[in-house]
Amino acid sequence: MKTVAFIGLGNMGGPMAANLVKAKYSVKGFDLSEEAKAHSKSQGVDIVSSVEEAVTTADAVITMLPAGKHLLAVYEGALKAAKAGTLFIDCSTIDVDSARTAHQAATKASMLSLDAPVSGGVGGATAGTLTFMAGGSKAAFDKAQELLSVMGGKIVHCGGDGNGQAAKICNNMILGISMIASAEAFNLAEKLGLDHQALFDVASTSSGQCWSINSYCPVPGPVPTSPANNDYKPGFAAALMLKDLKLSQEAAKSSGVSTPLGAHAEELYQLFNNEGGATTDFSGIIKFLKGEK
Ligand code: NAD
Repeated sequence: MKTVAFIGLGNMGGPMAANLVKAKYSVKGFDLSEEAKAHSKSQGVDIVSSVEEAVTTADAVITMLPAGKHLLAVYEGALKAAKAGTLFIDCSTIDVDSARTAHQAATKASMLSLDAPVSGGVGGATAGTLTFMAGGSKAAFDKAQELLSVMGGKIVHCGGDGNGQAAKICNNMILGISMIASAEAFNLAEKLGLDHQALFDVASTSSGQCWSINSYCPVPGPVPTSPANNDYKPGFAAALMLKDLKLSQEAAKSSGVSTPLGAHAEELYQLFNNEGGATTDFSGIIKFLKGEK
């Protein structure tokens, strides 16, 4: 593959497209935002004037968009304009139902398609170390490897259509719940006269250990790289955690599965977002739970 169309050149898509340029792919990019287009142009992306123009000559089409409705709108034009057999890779985080609808449309148009949401944030997108969780056929997955390995460090094939999105929202539901649990434990410990480092030393090596404590501790001190040491600057913004929890709850509802802690985590992150937490790191919920602003 030589020519890649990249649609959605925002915080994540911009650096991902730049890494493809660095790896000598010819990248044709499109976005609705003038700022995103100008920034990607400065990184060597050939900015074109429509989705259709970007995809006509492409061997692969990569999308990095806000939500399912944006993806389905982009696919409507792109699937008509691309050559049959083009590989479509959607890296956005979207609902499982829209991801499966997008796969169906791509198959109907004789394209190969993959849903491949990512973990790793803007830092991972810039460094080319994202984790990709992919759903789709083996043929699509195999063909996507060369591009995904330019943008990422770990690439996991999670199964058929939509399973990448399923893995992403299940993982992030665990993360949202475990961050709240960790925050509650540190708040309780404080009131009981137990210092943060002592709880960390025990929990991080005992049965309470989890990523939210060991790698992303919500109090300053024990893990120097965690956002708690940087006034809760993201990191992973609380607005994005809320988005992913909402997606998990939509999926739970549409598949008839009971996820009471996931539902409660969504409510708490909604309240935290409403109270002004949206642009702070999601670990900042510890202050909201304590009743602090
Ligand atoms: P962003 O808002 O910075 O970028 C999205 C871009 O899509 C914007 O530039 C917007 O103008 C563009 N866009 C919207 N509709 C379009 C259309 N019809 N045609 C062309 N461009 C269009 O968002 P982001 O932070 O880059 O996130 C993108 C996706 O990645 C989201 O689904 C998000 O949930 C997911 N994600 C983000 C992070 C993160 O840390 N930012 C981490 C993992 C996953």
